[in-house]
Amino acid sequence: MEFSDITDESFMNRCIALAKISKQRGESPVGSVIVKDGQIIGEGIESVKARNDISFHSEVEAIRDACQRLGHRDLSGCVLYTTHEPCIMCSYIIRQTKISKVVFGISTGEIGGYSSKLPVLTDQTVERWNQPPEIIAGFMENECRMI
Ligand SMILES: [Zn+2]
Repeated sequence: MEFSDITDESFMNRCIALAKISKQRGESPVGSVIVKDGQIIGEGIESVKARNDISFHSEVEAIRDACQRLGHRDLSGCVLYTTHEPCIMCSYIIRQTKISKVVFGISTGEIGGYSSKLPVLTDQTVERWNQPPEIIAGFMENECRMI
């Protein structure tokens, strides 16, 4: 196994741990982290029910955390690891913040920003968005499904 694979695995394991916390709180079992230069700079736990707010997806929470820590909203060079394929809403935020790579476990089908009919994550028609992020789909999918 390559060194980077081990790192990818450890970051996804952190997502799985966060997803378990989400589940314990009665939320959808989703967890996400933002990584820059091999370091976690943002973490997200699903909080839609607790906040009574549909925008509190774990991916958005991880992005909020990272932006706050960095003091700006440009996440170029960052990698988002997340247990589930980012939805259409989260994909918009991923594109706006210029995240360079997205690694996810489980596909979310018709609401997914990658595999649905609204592939916001990879769309190339919005001029203000740069190149779409590199996508690694189905990473540690079985481990994610065991949550
Ligand atoms: Zn979402």
